[in-house]
Amino acid sequence: MSKNKNIAILGSGESGVGAAVLAKKQGFDVFVSDFGKIKEEYKAVLEKENIEWEEGAHTLERILKASEIIKSPGIPDKVEVVQKALEKSIPVISEIEFGSRFTKAKLICITGSNGKTTTTLLTHHILKKAGLNVGIAGNVGDSFALQVANEDYDYYILELSSFQLDGIKKFKADIAILLNITPDHLDRYDYKFENYVHSKFKITDNQTKEDFFIYCKDDKAITDAFANYDLAAKQLPFSIKEEVSEGAFLNEKEEIVFNTKNQPQTMSIHDLALNGKHNIYNSMAAGIASKVLDLRKEIVRESLTDFQNVAHRLEHICYVNGIEFINDSKATNVNAVWFALESINKPIVWIAGGVDKGNDYEELLELVKHKVKALVCMGVDNSKLVAAFGDVVNVYETSSAEEAVKLSYKLAEKDELVLLSPGCASFDLFENYEDRGLEFRKAVRAL
Ligand code: ADP
Repeated sequence: MSKNKNIAILGSGESGVGAAVLAKKQGFDVFVSDFGKIKEEYKAVLEKENIEWEEGAHTLERILKASEIIKSPGIPDKVEVVQKALEKSIPVISEIEFGSRFTKAKLICITGSNGKTTTTLLTHHILKKAGLNVGIAGNVGDSFALQVANEDYDYYILELSSFQLDGIKKFKADIAILLNITPDHLDRYDYKFENYVHSKFKITDNQTKEDFFIYCKDDKAITDAFANYDLAAKQLPFSIKEEVSEGAFLNEKEEIVFNTKNQPQTMSIHDLALNGKHNIYNSMAAGIASKVLDLRKEIVRESLTDFQNVAHRLEHICYVNGIEFINDSKATNVNAVWFALESINKPIVWIAGGVDKGNDYEELLELVKHKVKALVCMGVDNSKLVAAFGDVVNVYETSSAEEAVKLSYKLAEKDELVLLSPGCASFDLFENYEDRGLEFRKAVRAL
């Protein structure tokens, strides 16, 4: 056991409470501090485990007594309590760093700007089907630390955001997957893309030559950054543009070729459960990870074929008078929208907007010109969208899901499609992206 007997936990959400339960179980003195309000369900856990907590404040003198601090990924480094801790040289780590100290399970870790949840669920689906004793953590389900405290898995599939990676020190992925890197969350990285890239590459930290690094070779931000890192792990790239000597690529017959040492195989992209170019990438990444684990070809084929799509990610809702409605509410950045528009081959009425994260819409202009029939803005401030697309397409402004759906329905005709793919955060009109997707679905069903 660690010599650090006194742990403070900042933020009492899923990861904070999970870390608190694990720390308590491991014999630490634990103090949980949340500047906001703690949800009742989490308070109940803390009470039950007899863990000391506070809400509505960070009592500095209590927190700074800790020999280590576990910080929720949602809290930026610049807040006072973190700065004070760093001044006092108290290590500030993330929940995954802490959790990893207490498990011997193999860790398959997935990061990227887009596709993390989809690829995490897909990889989990394959390993489960193969009969492995596997847990899943990150944005889905219980926190990693809580599962380490309560379960005994041999494998974990972990979805890791850059914020979680920022707080690692000795954490090591046995298999790391880096899907892509496009601008996102730059407000947390001093508006410097290179800082965000660096954060994503932390998924390779501490890897040795026994480990694996699976990455997208078509992503220039990734390949450009390679020179800055001395990567020890075995590299297994995937590409839909060029053949790779070991990893996965797309051949001219529209088949994915897994040319891995274990269980090499080919598979038609038309058999994949998930549509769109981005999902070819996601399927390749999950497939390679399964090859590393030497899973049978039939299992991989079957799992990539029968996987159920995740809600709010290019989710087909229904047809209304021949007009198809698709909910891609999780598309909260420009790159995700790009892949949505790219994957659709019907005239699109595109619903977009929300809280802008410093978006650059330039890369969408060509696609919008060719595929989008009308843009329906849905946000409090739509000025940036109007300015970006006003010259290439008819732009309309609305300020609720209901209004946006009704107008889109009027604008679309039979055999056309209405796509909600906002490219923005949702907090101006909705609680979160799920709420936005559900409101959209409700409005469509009410047509
Ligand atoms: P994340 O967990 O990284 O946010 P999701 O799987 O939830 O990723 O998908 C978020 C959005 O990105 C959805 O709109 C989805 O259609 C799109 N997307 C999924 N995979 C990729 C990918 N590999 N590249 C670009 N966009 C993707």
